[in-house]
Order: sequence, then C-alpha cells, then structure tokens
Amino acid sequence: MAVVYIALGSNMDSPHGQLDSALEAITQQPDMELTALSSRYQTAPIGPQQPDFINAAAELSTDLSPLALLDALQAIEQQQNRVRSIHWGPRTLDLDILFYDNLLMDSERLIIPHPRIGERAFVLVPLADLNPQLTLPSGETVAQLLTNCSQHGIVKIESSED
Ligand code: ATP
Ligand code: MG
Ligand code: MG
Repeated sequence: MAVVYIALGSNMDSPHGQLDSALEAITQQPDMELTALSSRYQTAPIGPQQPDFINAAAELSTDLSPLALLDALQAIEQQQNRVRSIHWGPRTLDLDILFYDNLLMDSERLIIPHPRIGERAFVLVPLADLNPQLTLPSGETVAQLLTNCSQHGIVKIESSED
C-alpha cells in the first residue's frame, strides 16, 4: 500500500459539489481508500482571470501504481466534464498527485512530487492540514514552505455551505 496525497480544485459548475462528487468517486474505487481530508479553502485564481477556486487535499491509501492512479484520477476528471482548453484556466475538477510515498518520478506524463507544490499556497495550506512534515526533494517541509509563502487570498471555509 502506498500513502498518497492529492490536491483537489474546482472553480466551475458548483465547486463544492464537484469536490463532493470527486471524493465520492474516490471512495467507490475498490483499489483506493480515502484516509484523511483537509478543510476546504476558497482561493484566488492564479493565471487568467476567472472565478475563485475551492481547494482541498486528501490522503489516500492505494495499491495502484503511480500511472494507474493518474489514469484513475483523470477518469474521474473526465466523468465530471473536465475540458482542457486554456492553460491554468477555469475547470470543473483538477485532481493532481502531490506525493506518492517517498517516490521521486520524472516522466512525460507524471512528475512526483508535483513540481509546483512549493510555490502554491492553495496546495500548501490544505496539505499542512494533513501532514506538515511532508518533504520536497529540496529538503524543505510543507510547514517550512508555508512560512515563506504568501497566504493572501486563501480563506478557510468553516462550513460546507456553497
Ligand atoms: P498544474 O500541473 O500546473 O497544476 P494542471 O493541473 O492544470 O496544471 P492538467 O491539465 O490537469 O494540468 O494536467 C496536465 C498534465 O499534467 C496531465 O495530463 C498529466 O499527464 C501531467 N502531470 C504531470 N505530473 C502530474 C501530477 N503529479 N499530477 C497530475 N498530473 C500530472
Ligand atoms: Mg493542477
Ligand atoms: Mg491537473
């Protein structure tokens, strides 16, 4: 079993409902177990102008290989009508693999740890809810990266109301 951390994000078509559906789909996969879930955060978009995102992170336990996990997560994105048009543009659902055990991987389809964790408060903040001691190849922990990163525009959602 591998312990995996993923990022969830949505800013289209009822973002909270998109995250609910994604988590439900993950729970229904026979080869994945959802073991922990962060709070949800409303976050200001990066890249083109677009609505705010709802972001969260989840810890999974899985027997799937990294590429099989990516396939499974991309299938869930597709089920929820993810269309890839504008780079970093609005989307119904983004599921990114952040960490997969202590694996380092750099292939055409998959880079682990996710290469932009360290510069993204919208990833670091939910990840710190789950495990602030996770360490990037640079040797920096999520907790350390967070102290060097602006949390402007990141608002914790206290209820699950939309
Ligand atoms: P970003 O990766 O900057 O967050 P994005 O999530 O919008 O951008 P996508 O369109 O969701 O990018 O994915 C583009 C490609 O990134 C995917 O087809 C996948 O092959 C590749 N990819 C590489 N590393 C990862 C990873 N760790 N998790 C998810 N996808 C990855
Ligand atoms: Mg992404
Ligand atoms: Mg993605």
